[in-house]
Amino acid sequence: MQYRSTRNNNIKVNSAMAIKQGLSEEGGLFVPESFPKVSLDEIESLSTKSYNERAFFVLSKFLTDFSTEDLKNCISNAYTKEKFGTDAIAPVYKLNDSVYFLELWHGPTCAFKDMALQILPHFLTTSMKMTNEDKEIIILVATSGDTGKAALEGFKDVNGTRIIVFYPDNGVSEIQKLQMVTQRGNNVSVAAVKGNFDDAQSGVKKIFTDNEYKSLLDRNGFKLSSANSINWGRLVPQIVYYFSAYADLLASGEIKTGDEINVVVPTGNFGNILASYYAKKMGLPIKKFICASNENNVLTDFIKTGVYDKTRQFHTTISPSMDILISSNLERFLYDLSGCNDSLISNLMTQLNTVGKYEIPADIKAVMQDLFDADFCDDKETMATIKKTYVDGGYVVDTHTAVGKCVYDKYVSRTGDTTKTIICSTASPFKFNQSVLIALEDYNYVAGKNEFELLDMLHEKSGMKVPESLAELKDRTPIFDTVVEKEDMADTVSDFLKVD
Ligand SMILES: *Cc1c(COP(=O)(O)O)cnc(C)c1O
Repeated sequence: MQYRSTRNNNIKVNSAMAIKQGLSEEGGLFVPESFPKVSLDEIESLSTKSYNERAFFVLSKFLTDFSTEDLKNCISNAYTKEKFGTDAIAPVYKLNDSVYFLELWHGPTCAFKDMALQILPHFLTTSMKMTNEDKEIIILVATSGDTGKAALEGFKDVNGTRIIVFYPDNGVSEIQKLQMVTQRGNNVSVAAVKGNFDDAQSGVKKIFTDNEYKSLLDRNGFKLSSANSINWGRLVPQIVYYFSAYADLLASGEIKTGDEINVVVPTGNFGNILASYYAKKMGLPIKKFICASNENNVLTDFIKTGVYDKTRQFHTTISPSMDILISSNLERFLYDLSGCNDSLISNLMTQLNTVGKYEIPADIKAVMQDLFDADFCDDKETMATIKKTYVDGGYVVDTHTAVGKCVYDKYVSRTGDTTKTIICSTASPFKFNQSVLIALEDYNYVAGKNEFELLDMLHEKSGMKVPESLAELKDRTPIFDTVVEKEDMADTVSDFLKVD
């Protein structure tokens, strides 16, 4: 299997190169040049298999240059009961006869980013070995909260790599900060940047494009890399859990082989929902993709009108991991819908960069609207949905998952479509405990309570176990207290790596 760039069809690399490079040199994203087909018989046979066997089945069709042994090692290092607390890895929870939550948050950081970031480091080190890269990989991350911690957990103690995370001094929640500054591992470093997320991100981007600095690192045996969601190695593991969820529904007799299901995805960067679209291209029976957004509803407007317009007000919401105005993985989707039209894609992305908007051709829009539905909700509706899901079904969802459920409810009342539906549950409610408790009770209920009291209160209300990785933060001593000016981030990297 070869991978092409969305902006130049002549660029072709194998999966090891695609994963090592992350981004194609002219700015395009790597996509498989064809999609392997899976038969219904094969899908049915997955129903008796473990998550790791299902993962091998899907991943081996894409990472064809990986040896069986290497790929199996990547999978067994990533998805363990020890890290995910359950053999199912991504279990399906039945709310009622038509709604099922696919719980993607059982990993070490309690959000769905773990599904990809637990395996990416192993893909990357395997790819380095396969391409005879002898440098040590330095992963640089700027984070607004979730990704940084998930990357730290994924890369900690992985041989041949080091990871450095920058977070905005005053831009993350107390629990997110604690998660990062208490991070253990022999190859991890964390620093706060004086400023906001944009300052941290610009600082990291500056390091990535500073050739002089990169050659200094190179002379010292280091090579910079990134763990963000445009890397094919982060997308491909997400295809697996759609097959796994379908196989679970088969195993429990909820559906019969070949039955079509709908999928609802609370969406930010368009990575997760794109993975479900790729699963359908491979043969998984999915009827509708329902794209759910919060008030940053740039995708809702796009799917309804065919016009992508990022020039709008940015809203800070209670589902912060979806506060995004540039959904970078949309580029892969449009490339596919346009029949791999690389010049069209280059053109659209240039427009996005220069004027902040673009419009897709009518024929592509028609295909998109046939497959995709989209809607959004505001914080008030998100809160009401958390309460309603708890009162009606006894199930507590986090704020992101609630956006998905709310948009699903709107979809059903608009269309009357009662096809069995999987809603991606993307974070543990404990990770957003304060908003969840306010939704279930009110503001007074949480007033004056610290993070750990809130965890216990949510445990009392939901009957769910407090994730150990959050509870144990209480007794952890901070390891990293570095706070840097945004101009000094490269120096901080040098300090951590002991180069000068
Ligand atoms: C990242 C994230 C999302 C958005 O996923 P995309 O793949 O970026 O669309 C949704 N919910 C949570 C909790 C997340 O961390």
